[in-house]
Amino acid sequence: MKTDTVGSAIVIGAGIIGTASALRLAQAGLATTLIDWQEPGHGASSGNAGSISAESIVPIALPGMLAQVPKWLMDPKGPLNVRWRYLPRAAPWLLKWLQASRMKTVETSAVALRGLLHSAVDEYEDLLGPEHSARLIRRRGQMILWQSPDQTRSERAGHALREKHGVAMRWLSADDITDLEPALAPVFARGLLLERHGHMIDPLATVAALAAKFTAAGGIIRKARVATLDRAATGATRVVLEGGETLHADRYVVSAGAWSTRLLARLGVHIPLETERGYHVTLKGIDGMCSRPIMHADKAFIVSQMAMGLRVAGTVEIAGVDAPPNYDRAKLLTGHVRAMFRDLPEAVAEYWMGCRPSVPDSVPVIDRVLAAPDVIVAFGHGHLGMTGAPATARIVRDLVLSRHSNIDISAFGIHRF
Ligand SMILES: Cc1cc2nc3c(=O)[nH]c(=O)nc-3n(C[C@H](O)[C@H](O)[C@H](O)COP(=O)(O)OP(=O)(O)OC[C@H]3O[C@@H](n4cnc5c(N)ncnc54)[C@H](O)[C@@H]3O)c2cc1C
Repeated sequence: MKTDTVGSAIVIGAGIIGTASALRLAQAGLATTLIDWQEPGHGASSGNAGSISAESIVPIALPGMLAQVPKWLMDPKGPLNVRWRYLPRAAPWLLKWLQASRMKTVETSAVALRGLLHSAVDEYEDLLGPEHSARLIRRRGQMILWQSPDQTRSERAGHALREKHGVAMRWLSADDITDLEPALAPVFARGLLLERHGHMIDPLATVAALAAKFTAAGGIIRKARVATLDRAATGATRVVLEGGETLHADRYVVSAGAWSTRLLARLGVHIPLETERGYHVTLKGIDGMCSRPIMHADKAFIVSQMAMGLRVAGTVEIAGVDAPPNYDRAKLLTGHVRAMFRDLPEAVAEYWMGCRPSVPDSVPVIDRVLAAPDVIVAFGHGHLGMTGAPATARIVRDLVLSRHSNIDISAFGIHRF
């Protein structure tokens, strides 16, 4: 697949990050192959809440978190769950996550996230084109709602960051909330409307649309699992598929989500990547309950009206990528959402688990591997991969073509940990 023109690329992992990146590379004229053992979008990118959180500049680890963690861990119905057998493996990452809650790191992360995310809704329209974006993307903002009248320390830190960075937001009273979303029960004391957020009504269909544009632009999708990415004795980088086939290209992109570091070990790259597993319940066929994604901040989940029904997505489970799902986590969400609406009809529930690829400071890794400069990495988008994909794809294209990016990419560096 070597060409004499702008060259060739292999992209490993066809989630939103890999598929959007592969599309940008194909549009730039590279002969691009996108490899995944699943159909595009069937990892974390399928079952998420679909919020395009363009102004979510607040990282997950915040000052004051340490005080809340023991309470969350002791509550089996709480938003954070660690499988105790996995704790020894997760402990170094959890420690780094707590360290990232220092204000200095939080400030740096907020600036990086602002640069990456702020134009995400517009960028989706450009990436998808007018027909797909009219079908899939909505611009109605997002609500964050609290039942408790009192602000926690981490919440105050989040608001201060939003104010400092000029996030477009409006405070909502209990009456404002039910005026804007009349199906909600009057259980929320206060809220925020983030006006510049958008959402997608079908994340999997969004990835599929990008994949279709990729093949229309000449890209090739291969259904295969990459066994190794390494350098041969000659010094040439190579991809070996399960089954033994070896592939070469001018450039390689590792966008394998929560599995990415497994592929990078042989290149000497070690990054603190953990999966924050999340769950959803989709109540099939339910329509018209809310016009924008609603985050229940006390219980840390998002409700989104999707094309196929009402989706409730959230929770964090630390158990690694290989453990089987525990759908009791998703069933908890059903109970929470029933308490949130006045009159939620009965519906068939569909449960799902996905592996968020997370680094401690909430800022993805988008960079070139120093020891193998033909390898670019793009992963670690955590809770915000659907939002960060369009800008990530532009950065990946610029790194592959050795062009200057119009975003400051120093914050996404591979060596910052
Ligand atoms: C419950 C939940 C709710 C969320 N809500 C939102 C939201 O509202 N807004 C938002 O912006 N983000 C949200 N996210 C986060 C978002 O879903 C992720 O950040 C994003 O999907 C990550 O995309 P990715 O392409 O990096 O990973 P993935 O989508 O997981 O893709 C990685 C791909 O790599 C493939 N792969 C791995 N190893 C190999 C290999 N060896 N060979 C070949 N292929 C391989 C996998 O099969 C997979 O398809 C949510 C996540 C969860 C779990």
